Amino acid sequence: MTDHTRLAEQLWQLDGKGYKAYKSIRGEYYFPQFTLKIDRVQGDPFAKPSQCRVLIPQQIAGFPPESYANHSREVGLRDFLTRQFHQLTQQRQRRSGTGNSGLLAITPPGPEILERTTAVIDDEQVELRFWVGLPAQGRRIDGWQAADLLCEQISELVEGMLYPQLPTQNLQHHIDTHEDADWLRQQLSTQKLVAFVADGAILPRGSGIDIRPLESATPFQSPASLRVEFHCPHRGLITGMGIPAGITLIVGGGYHGKSTLLKALELGIYNHIPGDGREYVVTDVDAVKIRAEEGRPVTGLDLSPFINHLPHQQTTTQFYTTNASGSTSQAANIIEALELEAQVLLIDEDTTATNLMIRDRRMQSLIAKDQEPITPLIDQIRPLYEDHGVSSILVMGGSGDYFEVADTVIALSAYRPENVTEQALAIAAQYPSDRICEAAQLIGNRQPRRLQLKPSSLEWKGRPAKVKVHELREIIVGREAIDLSQVEQLVESGQLRGIAAAILYLHDSPPTDLNFAAAIQAILSQLSTEGLSTLSSFPEGDFVAFRRFELAAALNRWRDLSLED
Ligand code: ADP
Ligand code: MG
Repeated sequence: MTDHTRLAEQLWQLDGKGYKAYKSIRGEYYFPQFTLKIDRVQGDPFAKPSQCRVLIPQQIAGFPPESYANHSREVGLRDFLTRQFHQLTQQRQRRSGTGNSGLLAITPPGPEILERTTAVIDDEQVELRFWVGLPAQGRRIDGWQAADLLCEQISELVEGMLYPQLPTQNLQHHIDTHEDADWLRQQLSTQKLVAFVADGAILPRGSGIDIRPLESATPFQSPASLRVEFHCPHRGLITGMGIPAGITLIVGGGYHGKSTLLKALELGIYNHIPGDGREYVVTDVDAVKIRAEEGRPVTGLDLSPFINHLPHQQTTTQFYTTNASGSTSQAANIIEALELEAQVLLIDEDTTATNLMIRDRRMQSLIAKDQEPITPLIDQIRPLYEDHGVSSILVMGGSGDYFEVADTVIALSAYRPENVTEQALAIAAQYPSDRICEAAQLIGNRQPRRLQLKPSSLEWKGRPAKVKVHELREIIVGREAIDLSQVEQLVESGQLRGIAAAILYLHDSPPTDLNFAAAIQAILSQLSTEGLSTLSSFPEGDFVAFRRFELAAALNRWRDLSLED
């Protein structure tokens, strides 16, 4: 290991040389308080910045073991450290130069508290992973600025990350809030609930592009008949609305806050930072948002519970398309969620295919069943719950036919929820829909799909294909783009990076069990015991945790996905 003073000398000597000469600084440098590791050096000033780490021994970092005493607390602490580090890097003055010169950064975290590989902690040390833009003037090395950046500025950042320097009350609150939310989510099933929305929660966001809480929002208040209470380990007593297992409708006039509530439930699979307003909105961790997604591919899926007897005898028990319709894509999204054992389906009428949701009495009379391949969800939703324990929460302002299949009906009026279950059931009895149930094909016990990642899909001219991520929208594998823009429970690009790494991992270490769901489960259980970092042999700093559903979502939207017959 080289002493840090030698690093400074080395950088001064590189001053004025061609940018490629920076390659020589890859390595480990010993500082009085930490070790700096320069893991990857960029080839030119405009390229992806260089990847570095600092390792701070606990004797110096000083984190009390109780701040990371269990998995929940450890994730909360690592998330907090990521945010703190991000804030410190944002506060710096950056000097001028070509391209990314002088950059010191990480990918900014959103409002969800998630396992992130930016910060890693154990009894021995704290490790921080970040990007550095090695300074240049034109295409020549600016050695003086580089020495200042790598030796002085990084030391200052590290100084600010030591436990005694941190706002310890905020840190404690962050970890406690996260642990309480995890605890609450675990309590749901003991009370036969699938979601909980705390009294006082702020659900709406500033705007479509502003994820901060809306100022002047009406705080959430549970109807008395749905109110439940919990005693959280840190916060103590908390009250709010419990959404019971079964089929729940969210009804109400347009603009009364239905979609906002459902969105909060969708993201209630994650915990939120203090101040977000959704800290105590928690949903069953296996809840999956379902929507229509016209144009997505479908690979070998048994869609027969929803789609059957297509024109020209096309089979739907192993259905393939590169361009699904609205109804077919929504059916595929449901079947895929069930394949991975989703426990709750979340559906908003704003983004559904009407013909997959409902066929009313009049339409049944006009178009005979043998002329309609689609079995609407209304006829599968009760068997889904009664035979398979899968609950549904639907925003349904437009069709009262669903009253007949609902267990709970919540009406929103000016953002205030009311329990209108009894009225809705009385109305259903008074005005029968006269629908004929059309479910022919039982849902469940589908043939397992068998996954086979063809080497060709991950190779290009005999070399491993490059995998890239474009923000939250897509993963590019070689020349194929996987469109994830409609997968609404993905919240950070780091999740896509993790998923991309998992796809490569599946290719490099093929699963012993080729059952699609089992292969995905196997990776996820490995991640939960060994941590996200195991996805790559390189110490990547911007992987963010994801669920099995989102990994499956990426594979399912990959046009190169192939299955063994
Ligand atoms: P719906 O789905 O019932 O048509 P939305 O959920 O889209 O209604 O909400 C309509 C508007 O009301 C949105 O701009 C949303 O931000 C706002 N809104 C939702 N909930 C609240 C609330 N609790 N307080 C204030 N405004 C809200
Ligand atoms: Mg809406």
